[in-house]
Amino acid sequence: MDHRLLTQHCSREVRIGREVFGGGEVGWIAGPCAVESYEQMREAAEELLACGVAVMRGGLYKPRTSPHSFQGLQAAGLDIIRRIKAEFDLAYVSEVVDRASLELLLPYLDAVQVGSRNCMNYALLKMVGQTGKPVILKRGFAMTVDEWLYAAEYLAQAGARDIVLCERGIRTVTEVTRFTLDLGALAWLKTQDLLPVIADPSHATGDNSLVMPLARAALAAGADGLLLEVTPCPNRALCDARQQLSFAQLRALRKN
Ligand code: PEP
Ligand code: MN
Repeated sequence: MDHRLLTQHCSREVRIGREVFGGGEVGWIAGPCAVESYEQMREAAEELLACGVAVMRGGLYKPRTSPHSFQGLQAAGLDIIRRIKAEFDLAYVSEVVDRASLELLLPYLDAVQVGSRNCMNYALLKMVGQTGKPVILKRGFAMTVDEWLYAAEYLAQAGARDIVLCERGIRTVTEVTRFTLDLGALAWLKTQDLLPVIADPSHATGDNSLVMPLARAALAAGADGLLLEVTPCPNRALCDARQQLSFAQLRALRKN
């Protein structure tokens, strides 16, 4: 293992908007899987502010397993983000998949998300690192922890200083959840004190009734934050409908 740049140059505490990840703080990122409409994002923004979450998510570029599934609004959704950013005091995080999406989204991003499927896309990691923005680096769902840390090292080599690792579940023999949230890896990473590490129980489970217990388990294991999918009408969502929380569920989770 040679993670010298993470050790020498990267922050142990990352600030995105008013949320702090690491250094004993727990940061929250929440919002819809995909941006679908201005009304959906406005309602989500109002709800997030009301329950005190300061970083909003919402994908415009959705790398879906099936090419027949909704791929995100892509460039057509930028205007929605422009309006939401102007109207609400929220930071915004979204996934980029290539140079074009990075260039289009960058002016609106407070942090750049690299998704599970692109965690080994070294050309993309270099481009994202060069922006100097905070990065949320999802773990590839078939990646070892060492490979994941090397992906972070690529970001750091290109210039990233603020990197947040996001454990989002890996492929195992378990079939009752979509993936398996690797809390052992999360707890181990905390012992290494390299980078802040958060958990995404939404993609890990694929089931909104399991998000709350695994969110709590992740925090008990030492997670520096959570990334959660929540949307005004989960059962009408165009993407990941089963796993998205309602805002009532998010409020319940925030209470304890
Ligand atoms: C997401 O967070 O929008 C997403 C697609 O997650 P992952 O890359 O972990 O599958
Ligand atoms: Mn999703």
